[in-house]
Amino acid sequence: LDALQEETVHSVLIVSDPFFAKNGEAARIGALIPGASVTIFGEVTPDPTLELVTQGLALLQQCRPELLIALGGGSAIDAAKGMWLFYEHPDTSFDGLRQRFLDIRKRAFKFPKLGQKAKLVAIPTTSGTGSEVTSFSVITDKQNGNIKYPLADYRLTPDVAIIDPQFTRSMPKSIVADTGLDVLTHAIEAYVSVMASDYTDGLALHAIEMVFTYLEKSYNGDPLAREKMHNASCIAGMAFTNAFLGLNHSMAHKLGAECHIPHGRANAILLPYVIKYNATKPTKFASFPKYKEYVADERYAKIARRVGLCSADTPISEAVDCLVKAIRELMTVTERPLCIKDCGVSEAEFMSKVDELSYKAFEDQCTTANPVYPLVSEIKELYREAYYGE
Ligand code: NAD
Repeated sequence: LDALQEETVHSVLIVSDPFFAKNGEAARIGALIPGASVTIFGEVTPDPTLELVTQGLALLQQCRPELLIALGGGSAIDAAKGMWLFYEHPDTSFDGLRQRFLDIRKRAFKFPKLGQKAKLVAIPTTSGTGSEVTSFSVITDKQNGNIKYPLADYRLTPDVAIIDPQFTRSMPKSIVADTGLDVLTHAIEAYVSVMASDYTDGLALHAIEMVFTYLEKSYNGDPLAREKMHNASCIAGMAFTNAFLGLNHSMAHKLGAECHIPHGRANAILLPYVIKYNATKPTKFASFPKYKEYVADERYAKIARRVGLCSADTPISEAVDCLVKAIRELMTVTERPLCIKDCGVSEAEFMSKVDELSYKAFEDQCTTANPVYPLVSEIKELYREAYYGE
């Protein structure tokens, strides 16, 4: 915060969730900014909606801060990003923001420049989303079809990220597990993405290794492992903000919004099925300028070898199976449900929604970076498999 303290800040708004508003952490952080009046918006609930962003915006317009601090998990940080954008540019169209693009740098709709009125500092308290360093803000539009949109633009990236593991100590085990598996999904999807590069590969592989080494220990309360998972979350964020994600996230966004499954848990349940699907040579290839040929199967195998799940000469398909098996084992030791049915979603409810979920997942921004270009019918089959489990 030293750099911030050098600037004159008259008014600060802290965007957080009820947990940190009530336990005094939000106020304690506000007190670190000398001479500033501090307002706390502690209303953020998981999977923030456009209505919540609008509610926070009203407060922003009242207190007109030069500094916004997001304290919380991905939900608080994403809500703060949305509030920041509409505070700086109230006339921005949400319909424009959610437009899909192939290449983020060549899109039709331009995100406005942020930072003229306020800076954004993000302090993550879960070890999961990496939102503190990413270009994403995942906002649900409840009024128009209850669709969860991953808005994406580098202009949404916070000015400062403070990665301090002290905030992870209060995390309940279940949130440690869900968010830790979110980190794994980010890193794996970034590694097999059509936009993966030399710059993102190292970050993604290291984050994957860290999750396999530390998640179980972090789940069991080991403080060093909590710190390592906090770092892994941010490292995976750096990878996927550049390499983007894939079909797993597209499906998890729509599943989470419709069936109220926490984001990381939804990702983890789908992960084994999406890996097996992506690791099968496709008939319909994904296209991206630097993605010359399909290599996803080899990349999954490389992950398995790097983490020591198989030997260097294990054939690709066996190595992919080792990775899937290891993910299921990690889910089991962290007591996660392995299928959608075990999350308490009734078969009748799920099957009545699966067609719509599949269309919505196909249309999600994350699908464009997936190494296989999916058919809607294939997405539906993946949902069905993940519903019943193996
Ligand atoms: P979250 O922010 O929704 O928080 C989940 C729960 O954990 C909340 O009840 C919160 O109060 C509680 N909590 C958070 N930190 C805690 C702590 N230290 N101690 C005790 N309780 C704590 O969870 P999340 O998984 O971090 O965020 C999920 C959201 O982020 C989803 O909407 C998801 O789509 C989005 N997301 C965003 C990005 C991005 O790059 N912007 C990436 C992935 C996911």
